[in-house]
Amino acid sequence: MNLERTFSMIKPDATRRNLTGAITKMLEEAGLRIVASKRVWMSRREAEGFYIVHKSRPFFSDLTGFMSSGPTIVQVLEGKNALARTREIMGATDPAVAAYGTIRKIFALSIGENSVHGSDSPETAATEIAYWFASTEIVG
Ligand code: ADP
Ligand code: MG
Repeated sequence: MNLERTFSMIKPDATRRNLTGAITKMLEEAGLRIVASKRVWMSRREAEGFYIVHKSRPFFSDLTGFMSSGPTIVQVLEGKNALARTREIMGATDPAVAAYGTIRKIFALSIGENSVHGSDSPETAATEIAYWFASTEIVG
């Protein structure tokens, strides 16, 4: 069994609409265990650091403005094939093309305000987890 940990976020468009519980329920029902979780209102600078790989993309300013516009839930999810499982239940970046039944299809407002984040590789997951959590905050 390939037990993995990945990093996920419930983004400000979702916390604003009181969807933390609904999204958490979908993650848990997908077989993911929340082993760390906290609510943060990140600064613009923290958002820029987190999304540094996208710094030359045209949407970088909108993205970091949005991510610092309200509270976010940052989480560590653990489970069998947690990376792929999380990406699968989240759905495609753009809700217009996301599969039916996915979090983004159900809840996302747009390609930018798309309700959730999930790491895209084991290396990214390790970096993203360490960006928000001390190892003592992760309790499996
Ligand atoms: P994902 O979150 O699905 O891994 P990316 O890593 O490509 O997607 O992009 C990071 C985030 O940047 C997306 O979740 C979304 O919030 C935003 N984003 C991506 N592409 C666009 C776009 N074309 N226009 C506006 N925002 C975008
Ligand atoms: Mg990504």
